Amino acid sequence: MSARDVMGAVCFWVIVLAVLLVASCSPGFRSMFRPAPSPEGSKEAVELVWRTVYGRKEPPPGVFWIGQEELNCRDGKGFRAVTIGNDCVGGVTYVPWAVTVALPDNTKIHETALAHELWHAAMMLDGIADPYHKSPGFGPGGMVEQANRALEVAGL
Ligand SMILES: [Zn+2]
Repeated sequence: MSARDVMGAVCFWVIVLAVLLVASCSPGFRSMFRPAPSPEGSKEAVELVWRTVYGRKEPPPGVFWIGQEELNCRDGKGFRAVTIGNDCVGGVTYVPWAVTVALPDNTKIHETALAHELWHAAMMLDGIADPYHKSPGFGPGGMVEQANRALEVAGL
């Protein structure tokens, strides 16, 4: 890991902490801690992606699912995350031990951002912040795509 990567990681965490401080008063932030019930097969899905596809040994992150009633952008498929741009997202990951994922009604887990967010968490554990998805894991045929394929094959 180069000094530039280390600085990138340090800057990332400073931004995360600053955002969390600012965010703790916003309605969007509170909604992240009022999660929907986990969908059928979610535990199995997390194990499959985290252990089998990503090969991680650490305990998997907790998953906060955001249910349909709180999805109020992107045609009811996204939520406003506390980000620099207050973006409408299908999922968000600030820390490696918890991911937040939109769960619109009638959606299979492989259609959600679960695998994507778990890959952010896995990279964070390796000290890599990649908020703009520039690493190959997010690209065509990358880890996220492989994980979603594995979920689909498993009927999840
Ligand atoms: Zn992402």
